[in-house]
Amino acid sequence: MNSTLFFPETDTEITLTNESAPQTMPPSVGRLHNVDAKRLVNCDTVDVNQLAPLKYSWAWEHYINGCNNHWMPSEVPMGRDIELWRSDKLTDAERSVILRNLGFFATAESLVANNLTLAIYKHVTNAECRQYLLRQAFEEAIHTHAFHYICESLALDEKAVFNMYREVPSIARKDEFEMRLTEDVLSEDFSTKTPEGLERFLTNLIGFYVIMEGIFFYSGFAMLLSFHRRNQMTGIGEQIQYILRDETTHLNFGIDLINGIKEENPGLWSPALQARMIETIRTAVELEIAYAEDCLPRGLTGFNAGQFRDYVGFIADRRLERIGLPIQYGTKNPFPWMSETIDLGKEKNFFETRVTEYQNGSALKWD
Ligand code: FE
Ligand code: MN
Repeated sequence: MNSTLFFPETDTEITLTNESAPQTMPPSVGRLHNVDAKRLVNCDTVDVNQLAPLKYSWAWEHYINGCNNHWMPSEVPMGRDIELWRSDKLTDAERSVILRNLGFFATAESLVANNLTLAIYKHVTNAECRQYLLRQAFEEAIHTHAFHYICESLALDEKAVFNMYREVPSIARKDEFEMRLTEDVLSEDFSTKTPEGLERFLTNLIGFYVIMEGIFFYSGFAMLLSFHRRNQMTGIGEQIQYILRDETTHLNFGIDLINGIKEENPGLWSPALQARMIETIRTAVELEIAYAEDCLPRGLTGFNAGQFRDYVGFIADRRLERIGLPIQYGTKNPFPWMSETIDLGKEKNFFETRVTEYQNGSALKWD
């Protein structure tokens, strides 16, 4: 069987025989560069190997943004953290808060990376979104690297830190919640072509971008950054700031993707699905509050577990709004300094350690 390629600019048809056709050429190739035919999911007509012309410029912007924020964990100095960790200046409660949060993040980043590459990537049928997903996947690898680097620097028991997601119930419950969503999309008969399948796919996206990266990470960010605010564990704090900046882009991309799929598939975002998503987010909020209370059994300077109930509700409301759902909590942000932290441009005087305006290539010196 021969396939025909049509080049609209030249009105030329080229017939490829099976022998000359590249093996990766999908049989459905028709008009090339038909931008309007691009679709975020279930696109059968546009070759996903052809990035340009772009249709979803937001995906490309997130990609460029991610590249401009490139950083490596090993470039963050850890000397002061090592000194403090070895000293007797941290209480047992403070050490336990740090360890629990490292334990959560150490594996959570891998769960996100695996969901991204094994569950999401295959079903997103658009080249510019895939370009972003590849960048994000690398950033998740860098984040896992950061927690490994922190463990190594502080000479922590890595086996214990990386196994907490099996051993600490409040971590295990958050991760099980996410892993179920990954399995839903990994099953062999899964397809986004049925309305039920597409709903499951959207649920996975909301579960990872909105809940995992948008809610489950935030108590941990606040707890770890609170040390940085007191000028303690500033190496960990600096890495968390870089991670938080990356995660902000992941969340923004995820929300654009979720809302884009909703727009392109009228009927998908039904009142029933919206109600289910509100319930799912409410369940996640309870898991996150339980996690924060578990991390702070004896309190921590400047914090009590009750504030996390307000904080997680506040964060969840912001996420709900962005995917077009009604807010559920109406709580105030008890940690306004966290919003300042997200905008690293303002950070320079706020935190006293080095904060690099990281642009790619800035680390290259030829002397
Ligand atoms: Fe991450
Ligand atoms: Mn992420």
